[in-house]
Amino acid sequence: MTDVSDTTAPFDGGHLEESLSAFLDGELDEAAQRAAYHHLAVCLLCQGQLDSVQRVRTALRGAPPVEPPGGFIDAVVEHRPRPRHSGATPDPTPDPTPDATT
Ligand SMILES: [Zn+2]
Repeated sequence: MTDVSDTTAPFDGGHLEESLSAFLDGELDEAAQRAAYHHLAVCLLCQGQLDSVQRVRTALRGAPPVEPPGGFIDAVVEHRPRPRHSGATPDPTPDPTPDATT
């Protein structure tokens, strides 16, 4: 008589719940991943949850990039050190630091 009871399920033999994310990311160990797979095959509730998690992820991935507020780019560029144009404008800032280490 072979006992095939799988006691390594990370979800206490219940629904995947928090393990769904790890399952999708492949972060569960092999046995847990397999157990989750088997559970998903028979559990409509978890199938539905998996479906909605996947839908949210897909939506997030397909979301357009966030537009920065007006003037943000200009403000960032303003504070960026300007690239030197060779010969065009020499750095007008003299070094005021006196040599105090003498
Ligand atoms: Zn379930």
